[in-house]
Amino acid sequence: MKQRPIVTLDGPAGAGKSTVSRAVAQRLGYVLLDTGALYRCVALAVEQTGAHAADESSVSAVAERLASDAAIELAGSSVLLRGQDVSRAIRVQSVGELASRISALPAVRAALLDLQRSFGASGGIVAEGRDVGTVVFPDAEAKFYLTASTEVRARRRHQELSERGESTTLEAVWREVVERDERDSHRAIAPLRQPEDARLIDCSSLSVDEVVARIVARVREIEDPLRDGAAPG
Ligand code: C5P
Repeated sequence: MKQRPIVTLDGPAGAGKSTVSRAVAQRLGYVLLDTGALYRCVALAVEQTGAHAADESSVSAVAERLASDAAIELAGSSVLLRGQDVSRAIRVQSVGELASRISALPAVRAALLDLQRSFGASGGIVAEGRDVGTVVFPDAEAKFYLTASTEVRARRRHQELSERGESTTLEAVWREVVERDERDSHRAIAPLRQPEDARLIDCSSLSVDEVVARIVARVREIEDPLRDGAAPG
């Protein structure tokens, strides 16, 4: 039987990838791979060890050790770091900021590459991140690039952080979103960009349900080519 497809969702911070990819994975019965959570785990471990973000060799060593110890586990909606549930700890703004900095380091990206690919070995996954359609799974069958205006993304992230009890202003979040976009898009290795073969979805004025429906419909077309009426008479 043909393997189920790999679905990739790339895009900038706050475009809605996490919510959409979770819903898509649930609807399709696929495994969800939140690659940002892996970078956030490395950032948290860097913070815990007290290594300086600019100290490339220490940060790289932390990432390499986590990968070789298989210390990061994605268990349903929980993220475990050395067996500890860090699902909430990795979502705070400072960890996101640090993740964005250390993810520009080639050794950090290399350390996480095999781990990410191992998730996709048997297909049937929804991977979301910045380079999943370009670098991690360049042969994925269903690629999407989700974006939204800077204002929509900043407002969305501000609301998310406020709901989690982090006190921050819209202006500060807006600035952080712009800086993060800048860093993610201009780094030398695996920069954020739309894969040539990805479908672009501008989520500025679409509901989550509409975006999910579009993606699920496309994946169903790929899963079952007979569905569109091509069945022999
Ligand atoms: O998506 P999320 O906000 O959780 O990602 C945190 C940071 O990790 C991003 O700002 C980005 O710099 C980095 N990242 C990356 N490549 C990925 C996923 C995330 O560089 N595939």
